Amino acid sequence: MMEQNRLYSLPALPYDYKALSPGISEEQLRIHHTKHHQGYVNGVNAIYEKLDKAQQEGSSPDLKATLKELSFHLGGFLLHTLYWENMAPAGKGGGAPRGTLATCIEKEFGSFERFKKDFTTAANSVEGSGWAALTYCQKTGRLLLMQIEKHNVHVYPSFPLLMVVDVWEHAYYIDYKNDRAKYLENFWSIVNWNTVNARLEKAMEG
Ligand code: MN
Repeated sequence: MMEQNRLYSLPALPYDYKALSPGISEEQLRIHHTKHHQGYVNGVNAIYEKLDKAQQEGSSPDLKATLKELSFHLGGFLLHTLYWENMAPAGKGGGAPRGTLATCIEKEFGSFERFKKDFTTAANSVEGSGWAALTYCQKTGRLLLMQIEKHNVHVYPSFPLLMVVDVWEHAYYIDYKNDRAKYLENFWSIVNWNTVNARLEKAMEG
């Protein structure tokens, strides 16, 4: 991910652009990845270059504004990578989780159905643009929901993100227009539970 030139580059998707259809169409996925995710890569790199240039020139950038912008673009960059990886090609994703994840969901939420309902509510009710996430508290051993505004607001620092869903309109407007709820309904058919379970097991070790 970190290139030799100390800048970011757009990571390839773990599947082709048609793979998530019909939940997410080829056109929707291609634009999301090549325009929006690329936009955050460019955003982070532009800030790094600005900081490098200022350092070389001995000038002082407006750090308050620059760091706020960096948090936004870096958050966007990292969240999209997690999002692509926690989805699986149609037919290979969806269903219900198994193993450790299933056990922990049952313990925290009572049932998988209740978890799905709560996660969907968190995602549906993000004000404006943002994300819903499932996270894990290593101190208490509890699964928790997180509702992220934009890419960086309301994040619990250092909590590992196990599953994220993008609810920016750019994630679904080509396929669903303004119908976020319909997009989220279809998200459940392409969740890669193996990835989410692997992230949980890693978080539990750490
Ligand atoms: Mn997005």
